[in-house]
Amino acid sequence: MTIGVKVITKPKRTMSEQVYVPAIAAGLGKTMKRFFKNTFGPEEEKEIATVRYPEEKREYPARFRGIHRLTQRSDGSPRCVACLCCSTACPAQCIHIEPAEYEPDDPRYGYERYPARFVIDELRCIFCGYCVEACPCDAIRMDTGMHMPPSTERSHFLYEKETLLELPGRDGTYLTANPRHEPGDPTHPGIDRLKGH
Ligand code: SF4
Ligand code: SF4
Repeated sequence: MTIGVKVITKPKRTMSEQVYVPAIAAGLGKTMKRFFKNTFGPEEEKEIATVRYPEEKREYPARFRGIHRLTQRSDGSPRCVACLCCSTACPAQCIHIEPAEYEPDDPRYGYERYPARFVIDELRCIFCGYCVEACPCDAIRMDTGMHMPPSTERSHFLYEKETLLELPGRDGTYLTANPRHEPGDPTHPGIDRLKGH
């Protein structure tokens, strides 16, 4: 068996190519030209790709998943019924909910609960959006258009119910267009959790 040998000829380079100095000087010249143009040149001629954050901010895409918010009913109370669907779906286990009953004279008593405490650890969150998908009440959203402000305090990343309810959506509203079937409405299923009918 014969083995084919491929001979590769050494590329011929001139002396100036061999020493690389002219190429390095040309590269540095381009860098310095760009430096002076971007530092001292007219504003409209500058070619700067970086964004000067936080003075300049890029527009986030429409479906950007930002800090969570809890949506409100028309009376300002949370739409959340403390069903725990979001905390169950959360793969990072960063939602903590303490459900509570409405007062007996509240029409929602026996039909639904409310979150006495609702905390999201935004530092553990992986922004997957599963909580939003799991919610049957359109009570939690990630459409604030904001990302977490940097902080060295661990506690600053724990968002309580009161904060989550005060964050508006990108459209500036706290409500949602989706209908909310309150107890007593003809559209309400009328299932009483306490009496079982
Ligand atoms: S976005 Fe994902 S990780 Fe973050 S709270 Fe929701 S379910 Fe959990
Ligand atoms: S935010 Fe939605 S899914 Fe989570 S507990 Fe409240 S109603 Fe249930």
